[in-house]
Amino acid sequence: MPSPDSTAPTVTVLAGPTSVGKTTLSRYIRSTYPQVHFSVSATTRPARPGEVDGVDYLFLSPERFDELVAEDAFLEWATVHGTHRYGTLQSTVEEALAEGKRVLLEIDLQGARQVRQRLPEAQFVFLAPPSWDDLVSRLLQRGTESQEEQQRRLETAKIELAAEKEFDVTIINDDVNRAAAELVTRMGFDLKNHDIN
Ligand code: 5GP
Repeated sequence: MPSPDSTAPTVTVLAGPTSVGKTTLSRYIRSTYPQVHFSVSATTRPARPGEVDGVDYLFLSPERFDELVAEDAFLEWATVHGTHRYGTLQSTVEEALAEGKRVLLEIDLQGARQVRQRLPEAQFVFLAPPSWDDLVSRLLQRGTESQEEQQRRLETAKIELAAEKEFDVTIINDDVNRAAAELVTRMGFDLKNHDIN
């Protein structure tokens, strides 16, 4: 049974540019380490095929999102890639921490900066691609965005890559199993035998 290191931080923020593999890594942690609470973000983005409301995201109308912003319900929120809004609900983080869980937030750079302001003791992990070309080919291969959206995401990715130094740890996603092992270790858990593919 993996056990958290008592000195480990209680909140880990995982950020990094589009298509770098943050979702694959956080899904893996979520399914393998029950002591970790993966924070399901709220978003105004429409669901992609196969995405489940309440599991992948809380899919909200822009009006509902506005209400939550007005109620100050978000630990952080941001408009990402200039289009849709995404946010972490303060209540879900607090509930998980109250249950003694470690919390994993998979958010963008703007959100990571807000969490840095509010929870400076959190652990900030940057997931980086092995190269720019690798990132571009991952985004194109994924094929879930229009050409216009792909361009927008690549513009944001340039900005995000330039912010790597703001993070405590950089993990290069050259191999998903190796990167997962590094993330798990950095989070202070004993490594389980695993193979993501
Ligand atoms: P996607 O639309 O591909 O699921 O996510 C787009 C971007 O939104 C990703 O960079 C992801 O990390 C970011 N994101 C997802 N949830 C949140 C959140 O709660 N807050 C912030 N600030 N960004 C988020």
